[in-house]
Amino acid sequence: MISFESALQKILGRLEPMGVETVALTDALGRVLAESVRAPRNLPPQDNSAMDGYAFRHADAVEPNPVLTVIDESAAGKRAPKEVGEGQAVKIMTGAPLPKGADTVVQLENVVEMDGEIEFSSIPKKGANVRYEGEDVREGEEVLPRGSRIRPAEVGMLASMGRSFLKVHQRPRVAILSTGDEIVEIDARADGGRIINSNSYGLSAQIQESGGIPMRLGIGKDDRQVLIEMLENASGADMVLTTGGVSMGDYDYTRDLLSDWGVEVKFWKVAVKPGKPLLFGMKGRVPVFGLPGNPVSAMVTFEQFVRPALRKLLGAQRLFRPVFKAVLDERSEPIRAKADRLEFIRCRIERYGTEFRVVGVGKRSSGMLSTLVQANGLLILPEGKSVIEPGQQVDVQAYDYEFLEGHNPGW
Ligand code: AMP
Ligand code: MG
Repeated sequence: MISFESALQKILGRLEPMGVETVALTDALGRVLAESVRAPRNLPPQDNSAMDGYAFRHADAVEPNPVLTVIDESAAGKRAPKEVGEGQAVKIMTGAPLPKGADTVVQLENVVEMDGEIEFSSIPKKGANVRYEGEDVREGEEVLPRGSRIRPAEVGMLASMGRSFLKVHQRPRVAILSTGDEIVEIDARADGGRIINSNSYGLSAQIQESGGIPMRLGIGKDDRQVLIEMLENASGADMVLTTGGVSMGDYDYTRDLLSDWGVEVKFWKVAVKPGKPLLFGMKGRVPVFGLPGNPVSAMVTFEQFVRPALRKLLGAQRLFRPVFKAVLDERSEPIRAKADRLEFIRCRIERYGTEFRVVGVGKRSSGMLSTLVQANGLLILPEGKSVIEPGQQVDVQAYDYEFLEGHNPGW
């Protein structure tokens, strides 16, 4: 049995970001940029006005009562305005190019215009209300480095750089094979000891949420030949997950099965709870995970081991969910553990202003899907720690951040 750290190292150390594909800007949200983007031009492309008003030469606005002659107007997207000379001004709209000669814009509200002349009620500072060419982005500057996560702001920036297509890392295609003679599909009759295949669906959703593309291979009976044939359908996958059959039961032969299929097993069994029977290997360049069959164990091991691997394939810089301190709530029972392995305990994290509180979510059996529904995170109990009392601080890892979202703040 190996440690959590060493297992992660064995997984992540073998993986590289996926290859590159070109996508339309409109499909790029959430992807990771696989090229460095430099500005092909200055932004803004020319000096322009930040206000509706008049452009003039600041040196001409001499106290106490400067009066300037309006000689032209400058509107966004229209012809270039005349040059501003001594004692002159040009009426200007927000975003319109600053006329040659002018260095300052006075807001409309701060002048009175009469008979083609303006009189100032207040004189702005030199350079006021001017946006300078290239003050946002300079031509040739790297605006987005390789590895940038594409959020709405990046999409806007890329658009302003004229990029309708860009290079991103491919999304990994992740095959899922559920195994077990008792497992049946959603619409089958679930009687006589049959269990509906929840793992394929829960894991598919986790894969999608992590940025991958799930490929459900279906349910394999506990028969080596059948399972190998089904795994052959995983060709083209960038990662393979199996669930079930990794513990010590008589019909648990995922390990031999995967070896027969050509997987080089790198480890089997990790000192974590739940998820001890986790298996990891490589089939060529494709990582293969044998996840436990218990729905909770499968989802928790996905979170801890598969998600970081998937994030690495996606080219993400940060692979792990946020971990922070929270206080075990007074409503909670003390949390006890055997302390023989690192333990992940399903919990509900709540925010009170700037403080985080956490409650355990009842039953700890690794079969209980209802506890995952109630939970939004995992309380981390390190090996050797056997009890946490209410009021004590613990590390929690959130996998759902809705508790950070607010109610109407009333601003
Ligand atoms: P196993 O690892 O095959 O011994 O399975 C452990 C437990 O998880 C058993 O109770 C199985 O019935 C259950 N299980 C295995 N695969 C699935 C699945 N795809 N969906 C739901 N439960 C499963
Ligand atoms: Mg089984």
